[in-house]
Amino acid sequence: MSLTETATSPAAITDVPHIGHWIDGALRASTSGRTAPVYNPATGAVRAEVALAEQAEIDEAIASAQRGYEVWSRYSIAKRQSVLFAFRELLNAKKGELAAIITAEHGKVLSDAIGEILRGQEVVELATGFPHLIKGAFSENASTGVDVYSLKQPLGVVGVISPFNFPAMVPMWFFPIAIAAGNAVVLKPSEKDPSAALWLAELWKEAGLPDGVFTVLQGDKLAVDGLLTSPVVQSISFVGSTPIAQYIYETASKHGKRVQALGGAKNHMLVLPDADLDLVADSAVNAGYGAAGERCMAISVVLAVEPVADDLIAKISERIAKLKIGNGAGVEAGDGTLREPDMGPLITDVHRDKVSSYVDIAEADGATVVVDGRGFTVDGHEDGFFFGPTLLDRVPTTSRAYTEEIFGPVLSVVRVASYDEGLDLINSGEFGNGTAIFTNDGGAARRFQNEVEVGMIGINVPIPVPVAYHSFGGWKKSLFGDSKAYGVHGFDFFTREKAVTSRWLDPATHGGINLGFPQN
Ligand code: NAD
Repeated sequence: MSLTETATSPAAITDVPHIGHWIDGALRASTSGRTAPVYNPATGAVRAEVALAEQAEIDEAIASAQRGYEVWSRYSIAKRQSVLFAFRELLNAKKGELAAIITAEHGKVLSDAIGEILRGQEVVELATGFPHLIKGAFSENASTGVDVYSLKQPLGVVGVISPFNFPAMVPMWFFPIAIAAGNAVVLKPSEKDPSAALWLAELWKEAGLPDGVFTVLQGDKLAVDGLLTSPVVQSISFVGSTPIAQYIYETASKHGKRVQALGGAKNHMLVLPDADLDLVADSAVNAGYGAAGERCMAISVVLAVEPVADDLIAKISERIAKLKIGNGAGVEAGDGTLREPDMGPLITDVHRDKVSSYVDIAEADGATVVVDGRGFTVDGHEDGFFFGPTLLDRVPTTSRAYTEEIFGPVLSVVRVASYDEGLDLINSGEFGNGTAIFTNDGGAARRFQNEVEVGMIGINVPIPVPVAYHSFGGWKKSLFGDSKAYGVHGFDFFTREKAVTSRWLDPATHGGINLGFPQN
C-alpha cells in the first residue's frame, strides 16, 4: 500500500512525502499549508511531513462521516458483522506491514509493534461478537397487556483522539466497537506517527466498509478543538497526557458530548520481602524498559520493602547490562535472519532531553544514579533519539522525578519499611492507572487488590493490561469520565439506549380515561 502522496499543495514545499487525510474513502492531500515533521527516531531523519488540518478540512471530514453514518447505521447486523470479520482476517494476514510502519515512525522494536497490533486485534475479535453485546432486553407483560423492551442504538459520528505511543492499538481500543455498533468514526492520530491510521483506513476499505465510516483527520489542537466543539460529533474518546485529557473532558462535556479521556500514569510495583526476586527483576526490566518506557502501563517506580532493595538492585543492574539497544527495525544477521534489539529510541530529541532532565533532577534531589542512560548513543545511528536504560535508587518522594510521569526508560527504586508504607505512597499519588504487587503471600495480595486506589492491578504480573472482554482504564487523574475503554464499557459508551413501553390494544381491556400517573 502507498500511504503517502507527493503533495501538490503548498503544504509540501519540501521534498519529503506528504501525509494527508483519509476522507470519503480516499487519501486526501491537505491544502492547509501547515505541516509537522514526522521522524524516524532511530536515525533522527525527517521521513515525511504530516498535514495539520485547517477548519475547512475538519468540516469536510465531519460532514463525510455524517454521510457515512447514515448509510452504515442502516446496514443489517449480519452485513456489518461480515465487514468486521473481513477486517479481522486482513489485519491478521497483513500485520507485518503495519508493524514496519509503526517501527519506522515510533521507533519501538518490530516484535513489540506486532504485540501492540495483536492486543488491538483482540478488540476487533471482541467486536465481531457485537450482536450479542448490543442486544436489548425484553420484559413481556410488565403490566397486563404491556411489554417493555430496550433498544441500543448508535450515537452517530464519534471522535477518537490518540497518543503517539500506540499508534495502532489505542485507536483499536475504540473504533472496532464504535463501528460494530453502527457509528462512524473520525480518528485524529498523533501527529508524531500518523501513518498507521491511514494503513488501517485502507484496510477497512478493503474489508468492505462504506466510505465515510472511518475517517482520518490529521492535525494538531485545531483539529482536536474542531471535533470537541462540532455539534455533529456525539462523543469523544481520548488517550494522552493528563493535562490534555482534563482539557478534553471539560471542553467536550461543555459541548454536550459523552467523553472518556484517559490520561497519564506513574505505575508502582510493590515488592514484598517474600517475593521471588529473579521474577521481580525480570518483570521490572521488561515493564520498565520495554518500548523504551513509553507505555502508559510501564512500571516506573519499584517500591522495595526492606531488606530486599540491595539484592534487587543488583539483579536489575545485571539484566540491564545485557540489554541491546538499537534500531527497532533490526539488522540483517548475515544468515538471512533479522537480529532485533531489546529496546529502540525515544519518539523525539525533545522528549529524550526531557527524560534526561528528570535524571538530572533526581540526582540533584539526592537520588543515586546506579545505571546512567544519559548521553547514550548507538554506533551508526548517532543522530537517533536514543536514551540508555537508567536505574535510580533512593529517589526522594518529594522529587519531581518521583511525582511526575517521565515516560522514558527510567526506573526509580524507593525503599520502604513495610507494606503499609508502600500502599500509602501508591494511594497518595495523583495517578491511578496501573500497579503491581509481587509476593508469594495470597493474603497480602488479596488485601492489596482491595486497598489500593488504582484501576488496573497485577498480582505477580507487571503490566496488567486487561483482555478485551474486560475494560481498560485507571482511576484519579488517569481517567476523566466514568467509562473505561473496550469490554462492556465500550459497548455502553458507543450506544444509547431507548426503553419502549408498548401496548397493543385489546378492546376488551380498554382502560378508558384516567389522568393519574401510570401504575402497574
Ligand atoms: P499528548 O497528550 O501530548 O497527545 C495526545 C493527543 O492529544 C495527540 O493526538 C495530540 O495531537 C493531542 N494534543 C496534544 N496537545 C494538545 C492540545 N494542547 N490541545 C488539544 N489536543 C492536543 O500525549 P502523547 O505525548 O501523544 O502520549 C503520551 C501520553 O499519553 C503519556 O502521558 C501517557 O501516559 C499517555 N497514555 C495514556 C494511556 C492510558 O491508557 N491511560 C495510554 C497511552 C498513553
